[in-house]
Amino acid sequence: MTIKQVAEITKGELLGNLESNLISQLAIDSRQIIHPSRSLFVALKGAKADGTVFIPQLFELGVRCFLVPKNYKPKEDTASYVAVEDTRAALQALAEFQRNQFQKPIVSITGSNGKTIVKEWLGQVLSQKFHVAKSPKSYNSQVGVPLSIFGIEKDHQVAILEAGISKSGEMAALEKMIQPSLGIFTNIGTAHQEGFENQEQKISEKLSLFEHSKLLIYCKDHSFLAFQIANTFPEDKLIAWSDEPGSDFTRSVKISDHQTKIFLLKSDLSTYTFHVPFRDPASIENITHVLVAALTLGQSSESIQEGLHHLKSIDMRLTLKPGVHESIIIDDTYNNDLAGLKVALDFMQQQRPKNRKVLILSDLLQQGEPDRVYSMVSDLIVNYPLDKIIGVGEDIARIGNHFQGKFEMYPRTEDLLDALDPEQFTNDLILVTGARPFGFERVVNRLQQRIHGTTLEINLNALTHNFNFYKRLVKPETKMMVMVKAFAYGGGAVEIANHLQTMGADYLAVAFTDEGVALRKHGISLPIMVLNPLEESIDLCHEYALEPVVFSPEFFKKVNQYCEVNERSLSIHLDLDTGMHRLGFEEKHLEELKELISKSKHLTIASVYTHLVGADEELHRDFSLEQIHSFQRMKSELEQILPPNTLFHALNSAGIAAFPEYQFDMVRLGIGLYGVEVTGKYGNSLRSISTLKTTISQVKTLNPGETVGYSRKGALPQGGKIATLGIGYADGYDRRFSNGKGYVLIQGKKAPVVGNVCMDMCMVDVSDLDVKPGDEAIIYGEQISLKELASQIGTIPYELLTNISTRVKRVYYLD
Ligand SMILES: *Cc1c(COP(=O)(O)O)cnc(C)c1O
Repeated sequence: MTIKQVAEITKGELLGNLESNLISQLAIDSRQIIHPSRSLFVALKGAKADGTVFIPQLFELGVRCFLVPKNYKPKEDTASYVAVEDTRAALQALAEFQRNQFQKPIVSITGSNGKTIVKEWLGQVLSQKFHVAKSPKSYNSQVGVPLSIFGIEKDHQVAILEAGISKSGEMAALEKMIQPSLGIFTNIGTAHQEGFENQEQKISEKLSLFEHSKLLIYCKDHSFLAFQIANTFPEDKLIAWSDEPGSDFTRSVKISDHQTKIFLLKSDLSTYTFHVPFRDPASIENITHVLVAALTLGQSSESIQEGLHHLKSIDMRLTLKPGVHESIIIDDTYNNDLAGLKVALDFMQQQRPKNRKVLILSDLLQQGEPDRVYSMVSDLIVNYPLDKIIGVGEDIARIGNHFQGKFEMYPRTEDLLDALDPEQFTNDLILVTGARPFGFERVVNRLQQRIHGTTLEINLNALTHNFNFYKRLVKPETKMMVMVKAFAYGGGAVEIANHLQTMGADYLAVAFTDEGVALRKHGISLPIMVLNPLEESIDLCHEYALEPVVFSPEFFKKVNQYCEVNERSLSIHLDLDTGMHRLGFEEKHLEELKELISKSKHLTIASVYTHLVGADEELHRDFSLEQIHSFQRMKSELEQILPPNTLFHALNSAGIAAFPEYQFDMVRLGIGLYGVEVTGKYGNSLRSISTLKTTISQVKTLNPGETVGYSRKGALPQGGKIATLGIGYADGYDRRFSNGKGYVLIQGKKAPVVGNVCMDMCMVDVSDLDVKPGDEAIIYGEQISLKELASQIGTIPYELLTNISTRVKRVYYLD
């Protein structure tokens, strides 16, 4: 577009330089300009600042085209200006013009909840088949929609735009710009009620978005909404879905342990079955809109299902984060109903003991008569032992009189923030749960520890999945010991141990006594075995009820002596060396060991085990069997003098997969829990439990010949673009990933490491990507296999996992 066209379309007056470059980008935020010479800056009047104040500095940057209000006096006459009455209306006029250049379907979504998710998911599903444009984030407003429209390119085949309004009269402008061909109305809630006379008026305002659309998808089971839709539009425009028979699509849902199936029966009697990765009703409703829309747009059910496999969930997860002064925050800032509140309270209940339990909650966006809704809320909450409840909103006050003495109340989030002093919280468990409009992320920000850009996210559901996977591989009566040594393979011992405790693990094992002590100090009560206790720490083992492994006659005597002298008893474990040659009694020690056991009055032998050295490799199968047979021989000797309830065990994760017939009484699960199936026997049965991510600190352009980083090792011969990431070898990003050995994922695309990895940073090649500081980079996670990554630098997944520095913040979530 030329500046002259801009003037024509906006009916503005052209000033300054009348000839200018072509404009291909549009910006309203002075910080987001990527190609200054090709950008048109629109000076909007914002809540904080008038856009025109940025013009001089943008001119410095090289921007030459400006859309300005009439009263603005241009200073640089080498720049071009279009002066208009109202810059926002002009922006919208440009968007409308732009929209009319696009002849393909435009899907538009509105409703109270789920707009952004439906947009994101639909985009992901449709992109299996189509080249899709969609509004970024939740750009759905008077200014967000025009910007979204400018993101639609010629070769896109379908565009998905979200439309949101907060008061009456706003939809007309959005409709004019979007002119959707297919509409989706998600549902209606009570958010933004104040901008409307009543519910009916709010619905009819939102419906005006679809005045000219050919089709409209909606759920018939929201009866109030459905009634009004049916009254507004002719029947042939409507596509209704419902759980009751008699609609365009009749749905039924089957939820089992591992997946949810959605069956759709179309009125022409064709049927479809889809598997989706969600269980909660809101997600299932949202995805149903997506399914119906994709079918309506002519996507095949196979292709839709393929898209469903790739669904990335939007961040509306229930997350555990480190808070101020040893507190833990449960972040549930995306919740808005009673069902969600219960899930969050249950999750809170499962956490390890803390000083106080504090609940911070907002009004729910639950439909219904407030007295009834909030009496249900207090009926729910009384079931949970809470020390303090902080309510935010107009309605939540109704529960106050049920919680006299521990209830605090603020009308708005701002009021809470004014009063909220992080110093009031020490070692507390704080559940922050609020409906989206309350913006409770600000509360979480106030209460959480400062974040360093790199985080390790641990998916507790994936952990559960992997635990249960192994549990099903062994007999029901076989006990599960789980290895949480080395900070639970890097995942964070305390939270993972706590989760294992709620899942019903029988035993934990750590490498050193202090690891066990830390678990006890954080309230972990499962029996804990210590693999390599030092003599000096036997006292601590006793004090914290930890069970040391005893691995030689000498050590046995020392532990026994400690108990005799102090008149204490201790549970211990015996390590038998059948080939590892690390620690352990050998067959030649057996007679001596039997004698020691018989003479000891203070020691209880809780278990006896051996460790396989090559259970993960077929190559060593015979050796593993030899080890097992040697263990069986020693076992039958020891059984003569040990009580019948002594546990015998031999299998680690690989052993469970390879030698299920030798489970004995217990197995010792390690790496498998953390998502790596080392034998390859069960391919993709495990879920990856952790994602290591960081952010881009800076983006730089390199000329041919320039080098990157220490020792000038990094080079992009043709020149290009690099991004500097906030992770280095001190965080556990191995230096062997230097110079293209490693790569990270940015926007789902590979960005290879350029140059040497530095201590706290590294650089990656982003020449082909459109990235900016703050963007996320995935170091490893579901999309980057740890096995592959490890083999790239000649190591094993264990090392990558355990190398993640403790300075990297761990957050835990349920998905
Ligand atoms: C670490 C360890 C395990 C667990 O091994 P994985 O290969 O991670 O399953 C089991 N037993 C002992 C003695 C260990 O040291």
